[in-house]
Amino acid sequence: MDYKAAFKAAVGQVRSEGRYRVFADLKRHCGDFPRATWVSPQGEREIVVWCSNDYLGQGQNPVVLEAMHEAIDAHGSGSGGTRNISGTTHHHVELELELADLHQKEAALLFTSGYVANEAALSCLYKILPGLIIFSDELNHASMIAGIRNGGGQRQVFRHNDLDHLESLLKAAPVDAPKLIAFESVYSMDGDISDLAGTIALAKKYGALTYLDEVHAVGLYGVRGAGVAERDGVMDGIDIIEGTLGKAFGVMGGYIAGDTDMVDAIRLFASGFIFTTSLPPALTAGALASVRWLKEHDEVRQIHQERAETLKRMMTEAGLPVMPSVSHIVPVLVGDPHHCKLVSDLLLSDHNIYVQPINYPTVPRGTERLRFTPTPYHTDALMKDLVTALDKLWSRCNVQRMGGYAA
Ligand SMILES: *Cc1c(COP(=O)(O)O)cnc(C)c1O
Repeated sequence: MDYKAAFKAAVGQVRSEGRYRVFADLKRHCGDFPRATWVSPQGEREIVVWCSNDYLGQGQNPVVLEAMHEAIDAHGSGSGGTRNISGTTHHHVELELELADLHQKEAALLFTSGYVANEAALSCLYKILPGLIIFSDELNHASMIAGIRNGGGQRQVFRHNDLDHLESLLKAAPVDAPKLIAFESVYSMDGDISDLAGTIALAKKYGALTYLDEVHAVGLYGVRGAGVAERDGVMDGIDIIEGTLGKAFGVMGGYIAGDTDMVDAIRLFASGFIFTTSLPPALTAGALASVRWLKEHDEVRQIHQERAETLKRMMTEAGLPVMPSVSHIVPVLVGDPHHCKLVSDLLLSDHNIYVQPINYPTVPRGTERLRFTPTPYHTDALMKDLVTALDKLWSRCNVQRMGGYAA
């Protein structure tokens, strides 16, 4: 076997489809969000980042940084173990209590990332509930799909946010089988928001649990930043909330929140929870400070929403094909992987604007897009620069304008 050739061929295949990934090498500037230095092959360049999931700039909030510095000085770098073997620091305990309070649940459980939280929790639910059927939205994140697949039990995939389809699947399943509906609130590639109340009503009707990924909503929606379930007044109807500390909270880590017995069972059964070194105290301290701070600063969320609305309006006025989004995400359709990469490359090289192209398999083929995430720190002037640059490139690269988005 010529292994080297096999690896080369695999890469070549991806490259020929225009899906080869190149990571931008960045030095983010603390105190000057969203600006960064791009370490390009030709040297260093000052750029504006337009695709960060640090949605509120919490990664640079002095309150968060101070908590992290203090934790390092007081406790050192790593946690020194798994949660079971000396790696449960007092910051972990405090953060779990804080997250449970945020979501108005009895308990919460930390994981090293949101990906791990989804994979570990969903896969182990099959062990805890023999015969479980998981009903999964077709656009669920890769980490939920991984958990459901790795669990090895039964799964049913319903059309995205299609409650009629979901109900038909629930109805067809054995009445006495344990069931769980796994879905997200904000779908981060399209920027749409699912029908939480409708999904909860179906779960009640058919005796199913609800598992909601609020990764792109925690910190951002609801009066205390608990997510869309808080905004919609339905936190009670969600059995398991899953979130991240790495996006709006600006640090790193993932978690679930739910009632005591459920969280306790997942704590004991989830392999990805127990067999790994726990988060460093500095991260848990920073996340704790961030969650607490955002609970009390609803005005930041309002500015964030206003910024997103303004960008959508400016782009629409320029005839750019903004995809219908009811959230803070601003996706602009390109519809071709090569074009998408080209526009993104030119934005960076000619305009010092960084937005990563989003291609298959992250989104379906033919819906390749640029995905902008304006934050409270993206000013009108920065937006104007962006829209002017996009307008030029849309003409230069002959990309479809408004009306081109038929789906
Ligand atoms: C990013 C993401 C995750 C994973 O969260 P991390 O903390 O980044 O690992 C889970 N679900 C969704 C929907 C995501 O977009």
